[in-house]
Amino acid sequence: MTYQEAEKRFRELNREIDFLQNIRNTLSWDMRVNLPLNAAEYRGNSIAFLSGEMMKRKTGAEMNDLLCALEEKPAEDPILAAMIKKCRKEYKYQAELDPALFMEYSAHNLQCEVVWQECRKNNDFKTLAPWMEKEFDLLRRLQACHGWEKDPMSGLMNEWEPGITRKEMDKLFEELKAFELPFLEQLKSAPNQPDGAAYLGHYPVDKQKELCKYVLDKIGFDFTRGRCDVSAHPYTTGNDINDIRLTTSYFEDNFTRAVCACMHEGGHALTGQNCDPALRYTTLEHLTGAGMNEAQSRFLENIIARGPEYWEFLLPKAAEYFPELKRFDPLEFNRSMNSLHFSSHRLKSDELTYNLHIILRYELEKMLFDGDIPFKDLPHFWNEKSKEYLGVVPETDSEGVLQDMHWCSGYIGYFHTYVLGNFYDGHMYNAIRKDMPDMFEDVKKGELLGITGWMKDKLHRHGGLYQPTELLKMLDGEELTAKHYIDYIKERYGRIYQL
Ligand SMILES: [Zn+2]
Repeated sequence: MTYQEAEKRFRELNREIDFLQNIRNTLSWDMRVNLPLNAAEYRGNSIAFLSGEMMKRKTGAEMNDLLCALEEKPAEDPILAAMIKKCRKEYKYQAELDPALFMEYSAHNLQCEVVWQECRKNNDFKTLAPWMEKEFDLLRRLQACHGWEKDPMSGLMNEWEPGITRKEMDKLFEELKAFELPFLEQLKSAPNQPDGAAYLGHYPVDKQKELCKYVLDKIGFDFTRGRCDVSAHPYTTGNDINDIRLTTSYFEDNFTRAVCACMHEGGHALTGQNCDPALRYTTLEHLTGAGMNEAQSRFLENIIARGPEYWEFLLPKAAEYFPELKRFDPLEFNRSMNSLHFSSHRLKSDELTYNLHIILRYELEKMLFDGDIPFKDLPHFWNEKSKEYLGVVPETDSEGVLQDMHWCSGYIGYFHTYVLGNFYDGHMYNAIRKDMPDMFEDVKKGELLGITGWMKDKLHRHGGLYQPTELLKMLDGEELTAKHYIDYIKERYGRIYQL
C-alpha cells in the first residue's frame, strides 16, 4: 500500500466514523426530544449497535495498518496530522484495555445507574454504597491498564480534560476557595441585599419560546443550520456544522432560566456552527476537553447573559412579551436574578456557590480514590462539607449525596471540568478585553456578533486541532491560573451587591 492509498482509505474510514457518530447523535437527540416512552429499549439497543460499529472501525486491524503506513513520515497537512494523532490515541487506548474487564464494567455501569435512580427515589444510600464502590473499583482497574495504577483519578481526569493534572487542579481549587469563602461572607453581610424573588412572576411558555429565538438570533445562531427544541435537561448535539441542535426547558415562573439555558447551549451550538468547514468529515469538528467546551457556553451564559449590561438591552425586549416587566429598572432586575442561593442542591445554586458544590465533590472523589473514607460513610462526609462550604446540611440523602448520577454512570474524575470551564473563561475575559475594550458597550446595545466573532476566530474554528492547554496558550500566552476568574467575580458581584 502506498502512502497515498493509505491516506485515501484512512480519510474514508474517518468519514464512516463521522457518519456513524452523526446517526448515533441524531437517534439520541430524537430519544430525548420526541421518543414515546416504550420505545426507549429498542432505541437504546440501536444506539449500542452503532457504537459497536464505530468501535470496530476505530480499533480494527485495518485502522492499525493504515496508521502504521501513515506514521512512516510526518504528515504535511496539519489536519491529517491531527487525525492521525487522535486515531492513534484512541486505538492505543482500546488496545491496552482488558476486554473482559471492560465488559464487566460496561454491564455494571448500566445497572449502577438504574440502582442509583431507585435509591435516590427511596432515600437509600446504604443499598447504593456497594454499587458505587464497585463502579470506582472497576474504573480504578481499567485505569491501571493505561498505566495509572498509582493515581487512577488523574488518569480519569486526563480522559475528560487532557493535560490538566490533579496537582494543578488542587492548587486552582485552593486558590478559589481561599478567595470565595470569605468573599461570600462579605456579600451575605452587604447592607443593600438584592430581593431574590422580585424577578419571578408568570411568564407564558409560548412567549418565552419567541423571546429565546430572538436571544439565539442575537448571538448569531443560524436557524437554517440548526434547531432549538425542548428536553428535560438542556443540551446540544450535532456533528456537522450545518446540523447543530440545542434544547432548552421552560419554567412558567422564571423566564431567565430559559434565556440563560439558551445562551449556555447557544455557546455550545456556536462552537459547532463556527468550526472551520475544512474539518468536516474528519471527526475533528469539536473542541477537545469537557472543560474547554464548557468554557464556551459559560462565557455566554455567565459573563454575558448574567451581567447587568445584557439586561439593559434584553429587559425592554422581554417587556414586549411580558408587559409586567416594565416596572423594573434593568439593574434591579439583574441584581434580583443574581442573588445568592445557599442551597444543598447543585442545580439550584447560583453562579458563585456552584463552584463550592463542585469543590465538595472533587474533594470527596479524591478521598474515595485514596481510601481515606469508606464508601458507606460518604453521606456523613458529604453533609460535613456541605455545612462547611454552603452552610446547609441536606435534609435527606436524596437531597444530598444522592442528587447527582455522575458517580454511578461513569462520570468520575469529571466534576472539576465545570469549574475548569470558569477558569478558562477568566482567561477568555482577560484576552477579549484587550482586543475589545468596549465590549460591554456592544452588549448594552445587544450587538453580540463582535463577541461571538472573536470567539469563533480565537477558539471555535479550530475544532479538535489542538489540545485545551495549547488553545489556552494561543489565547493569551499565559499558564492556567484562577486569578482572572477571581478578578471577574470580584468585579461582577461587587457591583451586584454594591460593595
Ligand atoms: Zn454545557
